[in-house]
Amino acid sequence: MARLSLEVVNADTATFDCSFGRGCDGLCCRNGRPSVSPKEAALIKKQLKRVMPHLRPSARKIIEKEGFLSRRMKLGRPMVRVTDTWCVFFNKGCVLHKIAAEDGDPLMYKPVQCAMFPLQLDTDNNEWYVRQWHYKGEDWNDLFCLNPQNTKRKASESLAGEIAMAETGVADKAFLSS
Ligand code: SF4
Repeated sequence: MARLSLEVVNADTATFDCSFGRGCDGLCCRNGRPSVSPKEAALIKKQLKRVMPHLRPSARKIIEKEGFLSRRMKLGRPMVRVTDTWCVFFNKGCVLHKIAAEDGDPLMYKPVQCAMFPLQLDTDNNEWYVRQWHYKGEDWNDLFCLNPQNTKRKASESLAGEIAMAETGVADKAFLSS
């Protein structure tokens, strides 16, 4: 179903403030398992030589043996592997983010589903929303930063970059079945 126009339905009421490096070490990478398109997978594959030395030993081992994609599928695409309950690309933060930041754009190698977090497309209603505790069937109701009481900062301000990215339409397909 094609998206008609971008609408972040709860942008005015939702709050969000990512505190990575200010008390949070990247909890959202725990069992993250984004699914990736062939284009995203190719982009990561091209950087793998640079990425590997930064990974946890268990992540390196599993990628060397089986690759970074599992056989599990989400939205018709393979999901990134997890080891010791963390995304294989996690090591005190997202290694893909770190490598991409060195190249000038921290989001350029990151799966779109990760880059957009916590902005989400509700494919039933074809509308964007900010994930918040107990909103639209949210199941991550113990992730502190999705708690609207966690901060007074409006998500419409803190997620301006993610919202701008959604407006371009590039992220739509990451949340739709292929
Ligand atoms: S989005 Fe939330 S869980 Fe992820 S790094 Fe930021 S504060 Fe931590």
